[in-house]
Amino acid sequence: MSLVAVWTAEHRLHDPDGEVWLGVRVPGSEVPERGEVLRRALEEAGVEVHEPTPHGRESILAVHDQGMVSYLEDAYRGWVEAGYTENPGQNRVVPYVFPHPDAIAEVGFRLPASRGALAGVYCMDTATLIGPGTFAAAVAAVDCALTAADMVLNGADTAYAAVRPPGHHAGTTFFGGSCYLNNAAIAAQYLIDAGAGPVGIVDIDAHHGNGTQQIFYRRAEVSYASVHVDPDRGWFPHFLGRGDERGAGPGAGANLNLPLPPGTGDEGWVEAVKRAVEFTAGRNPEVVVVSLGVDPGAADPESPLRVSNVGFAEAGELLAGLGTPAILVQEGGYDLDSLGPDVMAILTPFRPRRLG
Ligand SMILES: [Zn+2]
Repeated sequence: MSLVAVWTAEHRLHDPDGEVWLGVRVPGSEVPERGEVLRRALEEAGVEVHEPTPHGRESILAVHDQGMVSYLEDAYRGWVEAGYTENPGQNRVVPYVFPHPDAIAEVGFRLPASRGALAGVYCMDTATLIGPGTFAAAVAAVDCALTAADMVLNGADTAYAAVRPPGHHAGTTFFGGSCYLNNAAIAAQYLIDAGAGPVGIVDIDAHHGNGTQQIFYRRAEVSYASVHVDPDRGWFPHFLGRGDERGAGPGAGANLNLPLPPGTGDEGWVEAVKRAVEFTAGRNPEVVVVSLGVDPGAADPESPLRVSNVGFAEAGELLAGLGTPAILVQEGGYDLDSLGPDVMAILTPFRPRRLG
């Protein structure tokens, strides 16, 4: 087996500079240093790291709405032009009003004239701030995921996209949860379009990948299995991620959610990953895409799961055991001390096995 990685310094262009949580600007945890930590971990482990190749917009628009992508590209410029950086003095794009479905149901949706109101059209929360380099960094992350997909299409066993910002909370027409473009979903669709055959997505991030689920909910050729902290116990993304969400239409039965109670450690978490892997194997995918979040880690500030480095290593063994070509795309993981070791614990079983 072989393992290669894709990374770009362009992730540094995205500095969310915090988030607005319950109305208060707090520091946030999706910080640029995460990208540097990942790069150092790969170098120290001797993993071959490649630059991404640009892939243009076509693959992004195969998954995301043109209006949302155009908005993301122009959001910061429009915000500055509207004067909000001066009055009220907000240096990042953040919504204050959202088009509630019932409020507009009788007349349908029409775009608002105000740039401040526009900020709530595509964004599902107030925690996903847009700065001057956010869109460029999000596109660069997609390019990393697509370059990893190319490597697997060209014969690599495993390719890891060491990206930020993450992507699995972004859906067709919405973004949020520190995500802007859905790197893993775009890679999965790209593989389908390249004729790679059915794709199985396994999402081990601590939070349910509501965006990925939405994108493929009615699709039979892409399965989605997610292990995450139970939204019914009060955790993000709150409105989705329950066990009875099984897919619809041609995608009925192709979606598996395995919500876990807060405090779940290695035993319960690894068992759930095993179920996700078995479900995915049962769908007979030609390629597996792993949404690799290590925020289930015990030290992580964003989740109440309690997985150890040993638990991540066991998950890596299970995922590698699928035996299919795999793309691993970085999602969450916010404790800067355990981020590198926990990611390497998952990747290590995918590395070449040396003989005696
Ligand atoms: Zn997460």
